[in-house]
Amino acid sequence: MATVYLGLGSNLGDRMANLHFGLHCLETPCVIEEVSSVYETEPVGPPQSLFYNAVCRVETELEPLQLLGFLKAVEREAGREDTSERWAPRPLDIDILFYDDIVTETDELTVPHPRLHERAFVLVPLTEIAAELRHPALGKSVRELLSTVQSTGVRQITGPDWFATEEVR
Ligand code: ADP
Ligand code: MG
Repeated sequence: MATVYLGLGSNLGDRMANLHFGLHCLETPCVIEEVSSVYETEPVGPPQSLFYNAVCRVETELEPLQLLGFLKAVEREAGREDTSERWAPRPLDIDILFYDDIVTETDELTVPHPRLHERAFVLVPLTEIAAELRHPALGKSVRELLSTVQSTGVRQITGPDWFATEEVR
């Protein structure tokens, strides 16, 4: 079993429903161990609508590339069109942030995610569930990485139990 941190984002359609959809889909090949609160965040890059972002920790038997393939299928199912436009608005984006302590860089997959250490919309929710987790390549904890970025534009909009609460209803 691998321990994996995933980042979820949505800025198109019903953003909350899209995050729920993504997590529900993950429950098939993964055990969801912990989910952060949801944050509304300003987009990075060209102006577009605000994102909802959250991160989670899962346990899974899937190998990194199998997991990436699964995540892309879920993004497509959520209505994301295949587009070469990197910054295009998307109903659902799921990124592999950390996969155990693996450090790898290929055309298809780079782990840890190559931009996580500069993204407050990842580091703020990640600090909630894994503040002391150490980046295996940079050697710094998530808390330390967060202290190096500007985190204005990241606003918490739910409690930490938003996904569990929804399950109980
Ligand atoms: P971003 O998430 O940075 O906004 P995209 O979601 O458009 O960008 O990702 C484009 C490609 O990045 C994906 O098709 C995937 O093959 C590749 N990729 C490389 N590393 C990762 C990773 N750690 N998690 C998710 N996708 C990754
Ligand atoms: Mg992505």
